[in-house]
Amino acid sequence: MRAAKAGTEDTPGTLFLVSTPIGNLGDMSHRAVEVLSSAALVIAEDTRHSRRLLDHYGIRTPVSSYHEHNEAKETPRLISRLRAGDSIALVSDAGTPLISDPGSRLVAAALEANLPIVPIPGPSAVMAALVGSGLPLDRFTFFGFLPRKGRERAEIIAEIVDSSATVALFEAANRVAATLEALVEAGAGARHAVVARELTKQFEEFRRGTVGELASVYSKGDPKGEVVLMIGRADEREVSKSDLESEAAKLRASGKSPREVMDHLVSTLGASRNAAYRIAHHSET
Ligand code: SAM
Repeated sequence: MRAAKAGTEDTPGTLFLVSTPIGNLGDMSHRAVEVLSSAALVIAEDTRHSRRLLDHYGIRTPVSSYHEHNEAKETPRLISRLRAGDSIALVSDAGTPLISDPGSRLVAAALEANLPIVPIPGPSAVMAALVGSGLPLDRFTFFGFLPRKGRERAEIIAEIVDSSATVALFEAANRVAATLEALVEAGAGARHAVVARELTKQFEEFRRGTVGELASVYSKGDPKGEVVLMIGRADEREVSKSDLESEAAKLRASGKSPREVMDHLVSTLGASRNAAYRIAHHSET
């Protein structure tokens, strides 16, 4: 293993990118403990939070703060320390640094300065969620947190609807219903979806259904805790216009109103609202 020993002017220190648990302390790796113990400095988003984690493992290394509000100022200082031979370990509050967390600027600066970078792999919410999802993982795309509104959000939603890879994204619990609803509106209502919640913790849960079904579940109440949302790829469960028309005809024959037909076509078969409206009303005649 590359040791995190103090170097010299001739041997620069290493920047270690260390993954830490996302809820279950048992997920900390031996290597993470060794590297954090032997580094000259640990840099962390929230020093108090990370101090508690380090104390749990008896790690005495000093901790200083590194987050989006001080990274521009701190990066040159950290690069100087690495150049002088000190190894530095970056951690985030939970999971893998740089995955929707700070660190990209420091890694870019370290590369620019020709300094060694070593990832210490371990927990990450996105990987745990995908692996437990049951969705195909030969190809997947991670979108991080979606923008909350505006054109960029609409463009990303459209990209998800067209994606031929499984999609994973982070979402605040109170935004899950709105995002699922936006996907239904954009025509992805019939796609498989999985909401992974409280991974590695006591109330870990994977809830599976179509995007439409889960939109309906969470419209009645937000999930609790931390959430990763995943959507199956676009080539799954494609439904043709004639399939939609024959389904609408059956529903009409069983006495469903045009409104009920439309809702079913959107949430269960993944039709866009416009197409579902046209088909639901056309089958009236
Ligand atoms: N870098 C972290 C990682 O690799 O897991 C992710 C950091 S990001 C700022 C935090 C988001 O990750 C949360 O809002 C949630 O979407 C997801 N997350 C973190 N821990 C989780 C958990 N235990 N269960 C489900 N989602 C989690």
